[in-house]
Amino acid sequence: MLDDMLDYLEHIRERPVWQPVPQQVRNLFHETLPRQPTDLGTVHASFMRDVLPFAVGNAHPGFMGWVHGGGTPVGMLAEMLAAGLNANLGGRDQMPIEVERQVLQWMRELFGFPVTASGLFVTGTSMANLIGVLVARTAALGVGVRQQGVAAGGKRLTAYTSAGAHGCIAQAMDLSGLGIDALRIIPMNDQYQMDTPTLERAIAADRSAGFTPFFIAATAGTVDVGAVDNLDVLADIAHREALWFHVDGAYGALAMLAPDIAPRLLGIERADSIAFDFHKWGQVPYDAGFILVRDGTLHHSTFASPAAYLRREARGMAGGSPWPCDFGPDLSRGFRALKTWFTIKVYGAEQLGQVISGTCALAQYMKQRIEAMPMLELMAPVALNIVCFRYRSDNADQVNTHIAAALQESGIAAPSTTSIDGHVAIRAAIVNHRTHTSDIDALLLATLAFGAAATKTGI
Ligand SMILES: *Cc1c(COP(=O)(O)O)cnc(C)c1O
Repeated sequence: MLDDMLDYLEHIRERPVWQPVPQQVRNLFHETLPRQPTDLGTVHASFMRDVLPFAVGNAHPGFMGWVHGGGTPVGMLAEMLAAGLNANLGGRDQMPIEVERQVLQWMRELFGFPVTASGLFVTGTSMANLIGVLVARTAALGVGVRQQGVAAGGKRLTAYTSAGAHGCIAQAMDLSGLGIDALRIIPMNDQYQMDTPTLERAIAADRSAGFTPFFIAATAGTVDVGAVDNLDVLADIAHREALWFHVDGAYGALAMLAPDIAPRLLGIERADSIAFDFHKWGQVPYDAGFILVRDGTLHHSTFASPAAYLRREARGMAGGSPWPCDFGPDLSRGFRALKTWFTIKVYGAEQLGQVISGTCALAQYMKQRIEAMPMLELMAPVALNIVCFRYRSDNADQVNTHIAAALQESGIAAPSTTSIDGHVAIRAAIVNHRTHTSDIDALLLATLAFGAAATKTGI
């Protein structure tokens, strides 16, 4: 199995990025519950034949869809060790939790947070943003909100984010019981950043209408175009208005590792909480999200609970309090910290930062190539590693939707699409450490070919 996976990664360039799943392969996975054992080799062969070739392909250098990390062999091997140990990191006195605390310590250092800051591995930034909203809610309403619910105090909390924010911010408002209507969507300026004068007016209007503003969710690396909100100005506003300042840095926050990109995140060190993923720009295999909270005591009092079967002791295995389960909704938790610890130790922060800088440099290369191709048109500024463009055509939305699907089906490259100012854009998010200029060229040349063919056949 190890040989197969190492071969897979070594020769991934020779494979299509993605290929559609044939119906007969899908049908193989409609069998009934196997009552009898199957030989391990047979099951492994089925994996190699029926599953592996039909993955989404984000380990491939030509994959530039959405914002997916590429993973590494080091992360893969660490996952094997973690699974062999079968550690449960909910709590108790054990060294695996010290590994998680080590990563937390590194993240405090990276973001300039105090030693009292807390942090927790979670599935991804969707969960990390939810935890951010819940801790901010406790800050605004007091710990009693856990018992009495958000309606009891009669305060109507409002939160603020930009039109470029990820949908999971609204979802966090929904899941926390505050409601999506309580999230004010602030328009973006011409750099696709939250428009701060509009934000200030929205906060003032809400205060005079009897609402209680409590939360600003900034974005460091928007999912559509890779814009970074003006974090320092937002930190000023949050400070002046006494609001919680949260940063959704799902992929962008780790740009702190790259000396040439980090200055663009100025102000992130002033956040009350930061949500981010190691599984995107950090190249750690899925899944590995993280929430960092400045006020560790408040974070603890948002989640800790006194269940008798989780009693802490001064000695024995029930020591080591506080436990990770005191900082989030999960009790049983896997050893996500190990693959992250291995990745950071083996490659080192500098090399991980160079990967991040490298993908931004590739995005600038792609931008220049697009500007030199008369049939292509750039759709948004290239702030980090995301390039939105389209093929020029009378029927541009339809043609570009077709081109993106044709690229994916060709196996040459896999961009995704988004909507920029109401128009369909082909979107390349360069995240993978394996991607080179030749992959960018292949994507653009195939775009020209599919675009010309589509125009000729009148799609
Ligand atoms: C990817 C992303 C998310 C969601 O993170 P998951 O790890 O997929 O849950 C949230 N916000 C932004 C800006 C993202 O890029």
